[in-house]
Amino acid sequence: MKKICIKYNLENPLSLLYIEMSKGKWKKLTTTAVHKYWTTRINEEIMYYSSLKYIPTSLFKVGKIHPLALANSANQRDINRIPIRIKIATGTYILQTNRAAYNQNNVDPTCKLCDQAEESLSHFLLCCRALDQIRTPILKNIICKSSELLALQHSNIQLDIMQLIINPFHYAGSVESENDISCRIEPLCRQLIYNLHNKRYEILSKMDLISSRRKMNFKVS
Ligand SMILES: [Zn+2]
Repeated sequence: MKKICIKYNLENPLSLLYIEMSKGKWKKLTTTAVHKYWTTRINEEIMYYSSLKYIPTSLFKVGKIHPLALANSANQRDINRIPIRIKIATGTYILQTNRAAYNQNNVDPTCKLCDQAEESLSHFLLCCRALDQIRTPILKNIICKSSELLALQHSNIQLDIMQLIINPFHYAGSVESENDISCRIEPLCRQLIYNLHNKRYEILSKMDLISSRRKMNFKVS
């Protein structure tokens, strides 16, 4: 208890024996102290995590769900898209380049889907030809709707497509309201990421199946 109080810069718990405090006041005091501690810590440390470069600290509010993780509706299809969306936004979605960087074995970072370049996040989201069919119509729609929102505000800022897809709330200050992004852009970004993920998974599963069949045939013959 004493350690926790020191960590959150709260008074020594023994002093509570002498200071009369209501349960509500104590709860408010501790909640404020805990929120303050984590806000400061996260804001100070976020710069050291390159995987979080698309998440600006200005949108971070302890005790509130980040808009990237909020369900826009009770629609189960939309809710299912959130976990993959969050993995992409926080850099925890595993691609070949991550495998190559963190695996002790020698892993080839080349994209297995197209075999044309390293499978980085930008390759997966914007360049991989094997995913073009899924990507093109949704991406066009995202760019079109975002440009419309910026034009309405007479804003001439340049859109960074990666930033836009990974965290469109970065542009919340440049459009009329955060709500515009929640309703019009974020659902499309979620749809894009989820559909790309599903297509990638489908292609990789087929490849694995073919490769395991080949191995079986080889053993039999
Ligand atoms: Zn590729």
